[in-house]
Amino acid sequence: MTVRTRADLDSLPGYIPGKSVAGAVKLASNEVSLGPLPSVVTAIAAAAAGINRYPDSGATELVAALAAKLGVEPSQVAVGCGSVTLCQQLIQATCTEADEVLFPWRSFEAYPILTHVVGASQVRVPLTAEHALDIDAMIAAVTPATRLVYVCTPNNPTGTALTRAELERFIDAVPSDVLVVIDEAYREFVDDPEVPDGVVIAKEQWARGRDNVAVLRTFSKAYGLAGLRVGYLVAPESVTEAVRKVFVPFGVNAIAQVAALASLAAEDELLARCRDIVAERGRVRAELLALGYEVPETQANFVWLPLGERTAEFNEHCLNHKVVVRAFAGDGARVTIGTPEENDLFLSAAKAFSG
Ligand code: PMP
Repeated sequence: MTVRTRADLDSLPGYIPGKSVAGAVKLASNEVSLGPLPSVVTAIAAAAAGINRYPDSGATELVAALAAKLGVEPSQVAVGCGSVTLCQQLIQATCTEADEVLFPWRSFEAYPILTHVVGASQVRVPLTAEHALDIDAMIAAVTPATRLVYVCTPNNPTGTALTRAELERFIDAVPSDVLVVIDEAYREFVDDPEVPDGVVIAKEQWARGRDNVAVLRTFSKAYGLAGLRVGYLVAPESVTEAVRKVFVPFGVNAIAQVAALASLAAEDELLARCRDIVAERGRVRAELLALGYEVPETQANFVWLPLGERTAEFNEHCLNHKVVVRAFAGDGARVTIGTPEENDLFLSAAKAFSG
């Protein structure tokens, strides 16, 4: 006899991570291409001497540093094993089987999977023809069963971001007992002044008595710690408390905590790297547009190519040119902005495909 696992998992497509291919450049997972800063490596090496002990389960020092940086109370910050784990905890903390999680689609691949795993219902709201979040449709999709909304801005994989007016219009339209989570995994790559800082928005909403706005961020992208798995949630205390109840104890390991603290200490250097990536993003997008590709305006560290039925062919073509992109079958390809040399390799592949 084989073990009986949940039957509903048979049909659940698992999360498919961007793959690494030997000898090819990986532009598939929105990581930064540059390795860790020497100061971060030094902090990690020093912390290695203490790994016989469990980590601080509450990540007290990291929470305090984040709270000070963001101008919130430590009780309004929760850290997690990557922001994806916090996504899961947020669903667990707000939903049971009768409830709905609303999110734009296409968006971060984990939203539907985690919603299904927790046992809640998914409400997917299609993007606009311009590959942006459709605020009116999202407002219309809220029902009495909606408990949680993911607002991914900039949106993965399309890169489009909401303006302050759009975000506020959405928050104003949602009942105040529905949690609105602004997923800002790519916040540090935003350079459009119309695109607001979610933490600023959240704090303004809390000051108005709207305790249903939260923000998710990560050390995986701009801070270059994807391999260590640290993310954080900024939310009213009632939410962080509930999220902590569904923590896996010791979820954020000791090395990750130390590396995140060292990265905050070296933030200026890391954010300067982000500005270089943003400049490269402008160059890559302009060259793709000149080649005739449709490329939505992007505020993240990637570009989206809505290639529809040609996506699989484009993916294969890029692989043959030693570039790994992230293909979403029948829809499009997402390509991370790497170093100038990596981007040149990708652009030459894109040129050969279009020509
Ligand atoms: N949110 C979004 C929008 C993402 O794109 C990602 C990573 N792809 C995450 C959350 C999760 O990132 P991590 O778990 O590495 O913090």
